[in-house]
Amino acid sequence: MNEADSRHLGSQLEALGYSPEEDPRDADLVVLNTCVVRQSAEDKAIGRLHFVEHLKKKKPEMTIGLMGCMVGMKEAKRLKEEYPFVDVFMPPSDTEPLLEYIAENEMVDLGKIDDTYIKAVHNAIQDEEHILPALRRNKAVIANVPIVLGCSHSCTFCIIPFRRGAERSKSKEEILREIQKLTDQGVREVMLLGQIVDRYGEDLDEEYDLADLMHDVARNEKLWRIRFLTGHPSYWTEKMTKAVRDIPKVMPHIELPIQAGNDKVLKDMNRGYTQQDFRDQIKSIREIMPDVTINTDIIVGFPGESDKEFEDTYNLLKELRMDKVHLAKYSVRPKTIAARKMEDDVPEEIKEQRRQRIDELFDDIMAEKNEKYLGTEVEVLVEGKVKNRWRGRTPCNRLVFFEDDNPDIQGALVNIHIEWTGPYTLIGNMTGIVKPPFVSPLSPAALSL
Ligand code: SAH
Repeated sequence: MNEADSRHLGSQLEALGYSPEEDPRDADLVVLNTCVVRQSAEDKAIGRLHFVEHLKKKKPEMTIGLMGCMVGMKEAKRLKEEYPFVDVFMPPSDTEPLLEYIAENEMVDLGKIDDTYIKAVHNAIQDEEHILPALRRNKAVIANVPIVLGCSHSCTFCIIPFRRGAERSKSKEEILREIQKLTDQGVREVMLLGQIVDRYGEDLDEEYDLADLMHDVARNEKLWRIRFLTGHPSYWTEKMTKAVRDIPKVMPHIELPIQAGNDKVLKDMNRGYTQQDFRDQIKSIREIMPDVTINTDIIVGFPGESDKEFEDTYNLLKELRMDKVHLAKYSVRPKTIAARKMEDDVPEEIKEQRRQRIDELFDDIMAEKNEKYLGTEVEVLVEGKVKNRWRGRTPCNRLVFFEDDNPDIQGALVNIHIEWTGPYTLIGNMTGIVKPPFVSPLSPAALSL
């Protein structure tokens, strides 16, 4: 979500004549985008903020923007007192405060105070005429596309509804337009995003859901792959599973966080399903699509989680053998129900032990699942190069590395013969190009502008 917000702001700024700097010390404007979903993320954001403070001290004319979940819907006033060097605060997905600030300050510099400049700025932005130059320069192959903003669920551990506001779906037209713009710049894969992406459309007038949207997005001829993140077990429907199965461009990869595998913990988290509901959900998905990748999220050490309750989670994960787990140790988030009403009573060492046990379990599961790819050929969308190796993903979201001298295959769809597998990666050799990379209709000179 933040990546998409940053890209959006970046392209708006470029439309207003700004250009990116490699080194923040050289910039006139620095925006820090922040995540606070866990304490560790917030600590990192605060660390970066101190770095930005240092930059501003050295170069007082620099404009500093703070964006994202640290600012949230209501925190700006408090933050202004704590971090007076920040000039502009922006809630998640809302770039307007900065654009207005820029407009006003430029007007002051230009010595002309009238509304027309602000209007011009806003028109330029609403118009969406700008062409995402940064994407083209970086030859971006994959882009995140938020389709549901905010969240109205009240999971007791979660700060997101407080910081990203109420759930709202973007219109189909807006989403299709954004994807069109992205694919015009060479993007080949989109990740449709929502806190509960399978609630897409619940708040729209029309009867139109995630499955319908996937059908419409797939009509874009320049687009090769569609993924989505994150589903919620209570809202995922058979119609959606069938859409994933039946639309070739939708990758066989579902993210369905369970968070815990014990009914008391799930109830205390206010997740709205039982472990049996989740088990049934996974079973029915696998009946429809046996080879689908299903990933999940787990929080260990939620308040009151006993050894026995943790074992239930562990055993359920062992039984279901999903493809990957995003693991987090519980941390208290301000204003959440858990922060107000529940004691963070699982000691850090126990949280760490529980985390490690699930980690080890998944090392085995993932190693075993990946081993099946050994000696097979997989289709990989080449995302870029790390050191001397190309990297990309298979339809089932396995990360693949391979070496090849061809200097220009970023953005190509290629076949890779797998020679080595581990829990996290596959390594192989390229055997052929299925589809060549995007060639921009613009000249190299225009691209460097
Ligand atoms: N919307 C998703 C979750 C998105 S937040 C859902 O409904 O499940 C991303 C992940 O951060 C969550 O899945 C959860 O595992 C983790 N997380 C959220 N709040 C947390 C907290 N207070 N402590 C630790 N992990 C947390």
